[in-house]
Amino acid sequence: TGTLEGRVALVTGAASGIGLATALRLAREGATVVAADIDPAGLDRHPELHRLTLDVSNEAHWIAAAAQLRDRFGGLDVLVNNAGIVLAPQPVTAVGLDDWQRLMRVNVDGVFLGTKHMLPLLRESGGGSLINVSSIAGIRPSANAAAYAASKGAVRLFTKAVALECAAAGDGVRVNSVHPGLVETPIWDDLIPPAPGRKTTLEALAARDVPLGRLGRAEEIAAGILWLASDASSYMTGGELVLDGGRAIG
Ligand code: NAD
Repeated sequence: TGTLEGRVALVTGAASGIGLATALRLAREGATVVAADIDPAGLDRHPELHRLTLDVSNEAHWIAAAAQLRDRFGGLDVLVNNAGIVLAPQPVTAVGLDDWQRLMRVNVDGVFLGTKHMLPLLRESGGGSLINVSSIAGIRPSANAAAYAASKGAVRLFTKAVALECAAAGDGVRVNSVHPGLVETPIWDDLIPPAPGRKTTLEALAARDVPLGRLGRAEEIAAGILWLASDASSYMTGGELVLDGGRAIG
């Protein structure tokens, strides 16, 4: 039996990339997984996941999701706030307020709303794990991605503040962030259109900037999230798991 047997997990942004790899991995470890996405089409091929259409920036969707988790699944043990978006690379003076706010709504409001509405369920479970997917950009920002860095930095410190609240409450809920480096997922499609050479460009970036000299795989991030979701990480809260091939070192 898997390490998450009998647990219920909700993963946002679960139709693609890191979220999909995580949902499948948690399910393989025995969890009942609710895979939530604003565009759940990518989940059609995965009948082992319970699909849920949810826009993380929409509070009504979270309220409905909480009710559904209680009624259909008896609660929640693991929340992975993974949904996130990026903007095209541009200097801060070129960033439109509409784009800034669109990014913040998903990357920051989404994590806040998920936490606000799911924490009561995690608390009821007596020992839940809340995992927020930040980024290496939340630790070591890059030029031409100020909005993204601001959003991921917010997620990083929000995580620690909530971890303190849970610890002070003695509710058994652990709250940690994950910081992927350069991982090959469709998130790059917006920045580098999928075409022959896309992979090469990303790989060239990784070869230059990443000490391990290669891109990360979504499954490698999922493995870290699984560890945080499981009791194996029982002494970790308010922490950050950096999965970046050494990029953060500098
Ligand atoms: P992805 O684009 O492959 O998947 C993101 C998913 O989120 C998509 O299925 C999309 O439909 C969904 N989504 C977007 N907006 C949503 C919303 N409002 N509500 C619900 N779902 C929504 O991206 P990914 O690379 O797997 O990224 C997942 C997370 O990892 C993001 O938070 C991203 O910032 C972070 N991250 C990615 C990398 C990387 O290199 N890929 C690096 C660091 C951090």
